[in-house]
Amino acid sequence: MWCAPIGESKGRGGAARSHWLRKARRSGAMAAAVLSRCGGGGAVLSALLAARRPYSSIFRAAELRVEQSPHPKPKPPPEHLKFGHTFTDHMLTIEWSRSDGWGPPHIRPFQDLCLHPASSALHYAVELFEGMKAFRGADDKIRLFRPELNMARMGRSAQRVCLPPFDPMELLECIRALVRLEQDWVPRSEAASLYIRPTYIGTEPSLGVAPPGRALLFVIMCPVGPYFPGGHFSPVGLLADPEHVRAWPGGAGNCKLGGNYGPTIALQQQAQALGCQQVLWLQGPQRLLTEVGTMNLFIFWHREDGELELVTPPLDGLILPGVIRQSLLEMAREWGEFAVREGPLPMEAVLEALRGGRLKEMFGTGTACVVCPVGGVQYGGQWIPIPTMENGPKLAQRFLRALNDIQYGRTPSDWAQPL
Ligand SMILES: *Cc1c(COP(=O)(O)O)cnc(C)c1O
Repeated sequence: MWCAPIGESKGRGGAARSHWLRKARRSGAMAAAVLSRCGGGGAVLSALLAARRPYSSIFRAAELRVEQSPHPKPKPPPEHLKFGHTFTDHMLTIEWSRSDGWGPPHIRPFQDLCLHPASSALHYAVELFEGMKAFRGADDKIRLFRPELNMARMGRSAQRVCLPPFDPMELLECIRALVRLEQDWVPRSEAASLYIRPTYIGTEPSLGVAPPGRALLFVIMCPVGPYFPGGHFSPVGLLADPEHVRAWPGGAGNCKLGGNYGPTIALQQQAQALGCQQVLWLQGPQRLLTEVGTMNLFIFWHREDGELELVTPPLDGLILPGVIRQSLLEMAREWGEFAVREGPLPMEAVLEALRGGRLKEMFGTGTACVVCPVGGVQYGGQWIPIPTMENGPKLAQRFLRALNDIQYGRTPSDWAQPL
């Protein structure tokens, strides 16, 4: 397999660039970006500016170059897809270095990366990712769901690990181009979708703990089947163990950094060994409920004063600001049928509501499932049933239907953007 010279060390970067240049010349696709980088009009001035303000240059979707895969793969039926195992034929790559700024975006055949073994992503988790989806509606149109929110969040994550900024709208345009090229990979099913995984890594080839001098932004994509096979809305059981935390005050739990997830896998395994599907992350002496696995958490209950209320923990730095979380909050506030609050959820308050028969539904939210009902919690050596399913779950199902209707274009909305 030809391994692309992506993110190579500086010493070999020149060779890599000239390799691409030769390829570009051979195919006659000598693009403006290459010209300007090699000394076209105004290049000297922009190089000077770039040297003075190393992070000022941006990449542009208009400079995108596409190399088509000569061997497109067959598309498997969506109902047999295991999440994240099947990848499409192409990927997007964009390289950055402190000396050259951003290179032009490339769409190229899906392939392995060549990385320097000292790359900072591998040693210090200078890495972040996003998760978003493209949906094919009954009208055969493909839509992205609020992608600008993912782009903005990606920018914030980048800032947190000193990866250079980029123009989120230019990246979104590149992603649109990638999905357009791969449109046959967007399943023809209103239960399936195309999962898009933007990723951004430090490729600095030295061991100092410092801002990376080289970076690689890439996007890969997977067709994914239904989260609830057969449309069966099955509840998850959660392990709530106050010994373990996912995020902490002053930490980086509010960013989608790879470093936040690796250390959670062991507890996830422990949860499964105890017959639970996910971890309920608690925080601090009040044992605040924060998130469910990699989902945001919602509770729908009668308050002590009897009023119906939807609650989710506030964005206080511990919580990942989910796109679905935000969408549910906006939708519920728009409906105006019950109180909506972003506020702390101490375990004792939740147990008290359960004892009083006031808790109606508990569910997680995220791009993968949209809404995932919770059937019970393993806490303090006890199984505590949650009556989410017994209550419909009316609200969880209403949210799921409303969002699916938007995603698949059945309800027109600004939230779903045709390609
Ligand atoms: C990605 C993620 C979510 C959900 O975010 P969405 O944008 O709604 O998909 C929630 N919590 C954590 C920890 C996550 O990583």
